[in-house]
Amino acid sequence: MIRSLYTRVVLTFLVSVIGGTVIAFLVATWAFEDELNNNLQVTLHDFGQDIVRIFETFPLHDADSFVSEMKQLNSYYVRMYDESGQLQIYGAINGHEPLHVTDEQVKKVLAGEVVQFQTNGINPILLGLPLKTEVGKKAMFLERRTPSSSSFLSMWTYQFMIYSLSAGSLLILVAAMFVVRPIKKLTQATKRIAGGDFNVKLNIKQKGELGTLARSFEEMMYNLQQLEQMRREFVTNVSHEVQSPLTSISGYALALKQVDVADHERSRYLDIIIAEAARMSKMSDSLLKLSLLESQSQPLQLATCSLDEQIRRAIIAIQPQWSARSIRFELHLKAVRLAADHDLLNQVWTNIIGNSIKFSEDGGVISISIKQDSKHVIIQISDTGIGIPLEDQKRIFERFFKADRSHSRKYDGSGLGLAIVKQIVLLHQGDIQVESDPGQGTTTIVTLPITTPVD
Ligand code: ADP
Repeated sequence: MIRSLYTRVVLTFLVSVIGGTVIAFLVATWAFEDELNNNLQVTLHDFGQDIVRIFETFPLHDADSFVSEMKQLNSYYVRMYDESGQLQIYGAINGHEPLHVTDEQVKKVLAGEVVQFQTNGINPILLGLPLKTEVGKKAMFLERRTPSSSSFLSMWTYQFMIYSLSAGSLLILVAAMFVVRPIKKLTQATKRIAGGDFNVKLNIKQKGELGTLARSFEEMMYNLQQLEQMRREFVTNVSHEVQSPLTSISGYALALKQVDVADHERSRYLDIIIAEAARMSKMSDSLLKLSLLESQSQPLQLATCSLDEQIRRAIIAIQPQWSARSIRFELHLKAVRLAADHDLLNQVWTNIIGNSIKFSEDGGVISISIKQDSKHVIIQISDTGIGIPLEDQKRIFERFFKADRSHSRKYDGSGLGLAIVKQIVLLHQGDIQVESDPGQGTTTIVTLPITTPVD
């Protein structure tokens, strides 16, 4: 129970408010103690002086009856000792415990001294004043009988503290509910997300820190939802891509088991099985490569390479793909050296040029140019192939995306090539764009920053 945030908020409030009030009261009392006592003394002194004047001005009998009638005796208790030790009292005790007056104090006052006796704190003061009457000297002792305005003030303060604490506690019980409610909602939402349900509405309209937390939480939820969606698509795509070659392989393997298959047919089936197995192996290779690139587990092996040279070598390496189909190359390659991961960059050119060959008609032309400005190298690879529809152009870098599914069997491929290319370009702090006119051709533009060559 004590662990719940609600209880903690309430307890923290109570402890701080009670502690704060007590400390404030003690400090204020300490700071004003002298002032309050002075105040008390002044009124006691004034009243005493009044009585002294009365006894000095009027005959004893008149003064005595005048003082006995004084209204102030409701609040003060007055004792008068004469030289013979006789005591005259003015004002009723009314349950009040009078302060003790010693013989020594009486003697001092009779000798003409003013005696003032006071304990620590805001306490009653005993004031001794000498006075002369026609029958001789008297020692008068005055003290306050009813609570002074200062002690009244402290009583009022105590009561105020109790009422303010009770009212404050009630209010904080209600207020804490409002503070804790959004946190409870967030906790419930976290539990649902942990259980795989990303469709949670928070409905927290608050501003401030809790509002910001709620907004960030909703953002996180949205991102998790997207990730979950991507994961599902990925699993579906992989199963689909694995399923089709597996179906071919098992179908042709079953066909091979039949005894009456002609030799040339048997050889054709075997070729298909080998090709499909190679396709699967290539796809798993690409997936592995992509996952390594995305996790950035291997740092780039940067070395200075001659970009134009690299592109020429990439074209020669895939010569069988283009020469058989009479595809021509037009090269405008400016000599540029830059620091890059040679093997990864080679993969970029192989994949892009490979696509241009794959999606071109026989006899097509592929132009490749390298341009350079003060900060970047821009490599453009244009073909005269089938092009990419506008709505697909922004999706071709997604994993497993193939622009035209009806062509996918004709053109072959897993849809991973450009995803790998994009990842490599990003790792080199570069950028890749595609411009295409369906039916006219496609231009892929790779921009790489020129970094200081490393040797
Ligand atoms: P794939 O292995 O299918 O070629 P990619 O990731 O390399 O996968 O390309 C994704 C899709 O983008 C291709 O299936 C194709 O539809 C489209 N594409 C890429 N390059 C070209 C191009 N030069 N001309 C036409 N379409 C292209």
